[in-house]
Amino acid sequence: MESIALALPVLLLAIGIEYYVARRKKVDVYKFKDTISNLSIGILDRVAGMFTAGFFFFVYDYLHKQFALFTIEPNWITWILLFFFVDFLWYWYHRSSHEINIFWAVHVIHHSSEEFNYSVGTRITIFQSLARLLFWAFLPIIGFPALMIMPVLLIQGVYPFFVHTRLIGKLGWIEKVLVTPSHHRVHHANNEEYLDKNYGGVFIFWDKLFGTFKEETNEVHYGLTHQLHTHSLLWQFFHFFLELYYSVKLTPGFRNKLGVLFGGPEQIDPAIREELEEIFLSRSRRKPVPAPFKRYVIIQLAAIIVVLIGMLYFYDKLDWIGMSGTSLIILITLINCGAILEQKRWVFNLEFTRFVLATSMIALFTKQPLIWLVVITALETVLVNYSSLRNIYMKNLIPTKKIIK
Ligand SMILES: [Zn+2]
Ligand SMILES: [Zn+2]
Repeated sequence: MESIALALPVLLLAIGIEYYVARRKKVDVYKFKDTISNLSIGILDRVAGMFTAGFFFFVYDYLHKQFALFTIEPNWITWILLFFFVDFLWYWYHRSSHEINIFWAVHVIHHSSEEFNYSVGTRITIFQSLARLLFWAFLPIIGFPALMIMPVLLIQGVYPFFVHTRLIGKLGWIEKVLVTPSHHRVHHANNEEYLDKNYGGVFIFWDKLFGTFKEETNEVHYGLTHQLHTHSLLWQFFHFFLELYYSVKLTPGFRNKLGVLFGGPEQIDPAIREELEEIFLSRSRRKPVPAPFKRYVIIQLAAIIVVLIGMLYFYDKLDWIGMSGTSLIILITLINCGAILEQKRWVFNLEFTRFVLATSMIALFTKQPLIWLVVITALETVLVNYSSLRNIYMKNLIPTKKIIK
C-alpha cells in the first residue's frame, strides 16, 4: 500500500505537467467538469483498492494451490513469460469488454469522458478489476505463483496510464512494439473508422496478430458514440447496467435474452437510454456553476486526495472502523462534487449527512468530553437552522432559481 501511496503523487504530477505544457502550447486539453469527474472515479478506485488488495492475492494463491498445472519457479525467463501472458490476457479481457455487453457494462466508464488526457487514465474501477480477474485466473492455473503475479500486474497496470495524452505524437520505431499514445487515442475515439480497435495494454502486436489494429490518421473525436452529457458519478457508473437490464427485460425468449447479455453494445436500442435519462436525470436547464462552488469542489477534491494518500501510507495502522468511516466520507464527498457540478437539488442533504458523519467520527476518536460538547452544539445549531442554511446554499449554487421550501 505504501508503494501506491507514493505512486499517487507521481500520477498527479504527470497530470500537472500535462496541464502546464498544454497551456503553454495553447491546446485545450483539460475541461473543468470532465477532469473533476475523471479524478473522482480514480479516487474511488483507490479507496476500493484498499479493501480488495488482499482479496485478489487470496484468489490467485488459492487457485495456484488447488489447480496449478505446472510448477513454475521464479527466474528471468519465467518473469518475462509471465509479463507476456499478462499482456496477452489483458488483450482478450479488453476486447471482450468492448464486444460483450456484460463486460462493457463495467468498462464503459473508462470511455465516457469526452476528453483525452492523463486524468482519463485514472478512470478505472473495482468492477473492471473483478472482470479482469476472470481472465487473469488462468495465470495461477498455468502455475505462476501469486507472489509473482501481483508485482507484474502492478507494472502492467501502471503503463496504460501514460498513454492517455494528446500531447505526444507518433514515436517512430516504438510504435511497432509498444502501445503508444497515438494507438490509444484511436482506441478512445468514437469516429466510425476507429471503433473497436487497438485493445493492447503494453504491446501493440496482439492487435496486429488478431486483426484489430488501426493507425491514427484522421483527427480523433473522443467519448461514446452516444455521449452521456452528465457528470453524475452514479449515472456514469450504472447507466449501462440499467440499459442492459431493460434491454434484457424487453427482449422476449430466454435464448434471445442471453443473446443480449453476451452480444455487443450495438444491440442495445439507443432509445432505451433516452427513456432512462427521462426517468433518472433531471432535464432542467442548468446555469453555469458559480466560481466559488468550483473552488469549493477543487478544495474538496484536494483534501480527499491528501486523506487518501495518508490512509494508504498508514494502511497497517488504521483500524476497520476508522478506514470504513473515512472511506464513506470520501465517497460522499465525491458524490457531493458531482452533484454540485450537476446542481442537484438534493446536494445539501448530502452536505448535512457528511457533516454528521465527520463530526461523529471526530467525537468518537478523540473521546474528549469537551469535543463531545462542541460536536453536539454544532449538530444542534445546524439542525435548528437546516432549512435557512439550505436556502442560502441553494440560492448561491443556482443563483436565479427560486428555492421552494
Ligand atoms: Zn477500452
Ligand atoms: Zn484508455
